[in-house]
Amino acid sequence: MQATETEKQVTQEKSASMKALVFRGKNQISLEEVPIPRPGFGEVVIRVTLTSICGTDIHIVRGEYPVRPGLILGHEPVGVIHEVGPGITGYKVGDRVLVGAITPCGQCNFCLSGNWSQCGGSIGGWKFGNTIHGAHAEYLLVPYAQANLAKVPDDLTFEQVVLLADIASTGFSAAESADVELGDTVAVFAQGPIGLCATAGAKLKGAGLIIGIDSDPVRQRFSLRMGADIILSHERTDVVEEIKRITRGRGVDVAIEALGTQTTFENALKVLRPGGTLSSLGVYSGKLSVPLEPFAAGLGDHKIVTTLCPGGKERMRRLIELVQRGRVDLRPLLTHHFSLENIVEAYELFGERRDGVIKVAITP
Ligand SMILES: [Zn+2]
Ligand SMILES: [Zn+2]
Repeated sequence: MQATETEKQVTQEKSASMKALVFRGKNQISLEEVPIPRPGFGEVVIRVTLTSICGTDIHIVRGEYPVRPGLILGHEPVGVIHEVGPGITGYKVGDRVLVGAITPCGQCNFCLSGNWSQCGGSIGGWKFGNTIHGAHAEYLLVPYAQANLAKVPDDLTFEQVVLLADIASTGFSAAESADVELGDTVAVFAQGPIGLCATAGAKLKGAGLIIGIDSDPVRQRFSLRMGADIILSHERTDVVEEIKRITRGRGVDVAIEALGTQTTFENALKVLRPGGTLSSLGVYSGKLSVPLEPFAAGLGDHKIVTTLCPGGKERMRRLIELVQRGRVDLRPLLTHHFSLENIVEAYELFGERRDGVIKVAITP
């Protein structure tokens, strides 16, 4: 017994460090050796098998969203359970799991009011790579694991589900928050990764006509693939006029903003029919103002809704269901593959939007 315990300790000490991408300050990230996390009560450590880089990670690196130096970035993990802390039931070492970018506690006032993403307070559900160490590492400590581990069925690959953690959950939620109805006309402003998933979400929700707006030819092609019927380029046409023409002056039932700029927000409002819903996903900076004419001076019965990526294991289970039944296939969005070794290079390519990149898959 004694010997076994010592052997265990030796093995643990040997493998007690891992590679992780650490944020050191504005435009400073590096792959470093750091200790493998150990789970406390209610926590689980997973071995990350696949992850991706989000636009938000780029904002962090550029100093546009503040996080503390020394933090491991990344919030899109799939992996295999490596160690289970006390207080966890129904999970064991070796289980394949998907963890949402948002990890709600499931216990606080906000969670119990149904606002899982706002767990503990404003934007509080987003913990990985924001307030606690993230997924750009070989191992990841999952907080409130009982509420946040969704098992990945054996017949699905990690590639099929990794994008559910963030961009698919966020993108789809735009159509869900707007209560898209069968036959609705939906315009999606910007066809980056999130906008493409918003387009797919509008299709899943039964929109009758989906108009994708983006000037990038690669993104235009992806938009059609994800469910857009019509593509408009704001560089070539007056998008607002064109959408009014397409809808015979009526306007769209739902306009989704998936970029986070004053212009796209305004255009989304300008193409909205009276009583329509502007569903906003963008992350804005500075100041956002509402133009009064398209807002009908506040008398147009418009709804403006915002959504932060829904997380938690039940959300992930539902999204996995969509993939497993073939309702949606996100693999084409993984346009580039890198090993964790080369993640800094992946950040550069993704950040500069080179080579028609949509999303990068990172394998630790
Ligand atoms: Zn993200
Ligand atoms: Zn909570």
